[in-house]
Amino acid sequence: MGVTRRFYKEGYMELIERFLTKNRCYTNAIGIKVTGLMLHSVGVGQPRAEVFINRWNNPEVSVCVHAFAQADGKVYQTLPWDYKAWHAGGLANSYYSAGVRCGYVGVEMTEPASLHYTGSGSSFTDSDPAATRTFLNEVFHVAVELFAQLCKKYSLDPMRDIISHAEGHRMGIASDHDDPDALWSRYPELGLSMDRFRSAVKTRMEQEEPMTQQDFDRMMQDYNARNNPTYNTVEQVPAYWQAETQQLVDAGAIGGDGVSPLGVTRSELKAAIIAKRYTDAKLEERA
Ligand SMILES: [Zn+2]
Repeated sequence: MGVTRRFYKEGYMELIERFLTKNRCYTNAIGIKVTGLMLHSVGVGQPRAEVFINRWNNPEVSVCVHAFAQADGKVYQTLPWDYKAWHAGGLANSYYSAGVRCGYVGVEMTEPASLHYTGSGSSFTDSDPAATRTFLNEVFHVAVELFAQLCKKYSLDPMRDIISHAEGHRMGIASDHDDPDALWSRYPELGLSMDRFRSAVKTRMEQEEPMTQQDFDRMMQDYNARNNPTYNTVEQVPAYWQAETQQLVDAGAIGGDGVSPLGVTRSELKAAIIAKRYTDAKLEERA
């Protein structure tokens, strides 16, 4: 959980917009109502989103996702979230519900360079299992952060509306891929699973407490107390203004606020003293 805390505490997910403007999913610009989020893993030992972005920003390519998550916390958004993408190879991309075109946002997690796919299905060799474990753990938490934000943005229930590509296939709405579940199952010691992913997103969403009006008012009061305090008595006024403040009180120019003899903020008093000094100077000129 150390990794979780590091990302969460620092809020470490940097969202970078890199729309694939030449990809047909971008140029087709078919809008969807976002009804779910689908998690993928790229299935190739390539940690850098840039490589996929360069390859997929092309009208000939018939695949597109909404974002790529890297283990270093960077997330590249490659398509507006509410555009139809070709990531699931099935109904999850878009379907009609009550006449509304709906669909899943598709997000790919990149994979470490230590993985070497053999070309037959999803089998691979691992040249550095320790590095792989670190990477898988970190990219998991980056994806959690992104999914928590998207669930909030689209009022989704993480326990119900988040699925993996593999789960989508079992539900009959995605092509026959096993990502990312199969990859995680090769490293059981990490304990990564879709169930754990969903509950991590839920926990993450609960961690962020929205600011209430009460919180805001209290912060405003603190801010004012520090930057523009209210003086209730002459004694509370800074020494350099006290004599002039007393004169203003004696002249009845400052009559208190009905509760305390002064009841003026620092900025109000400053304005009053500037006006007084101006008047005093003019009176002196005439004398
Ligand atoms: Zn997939």
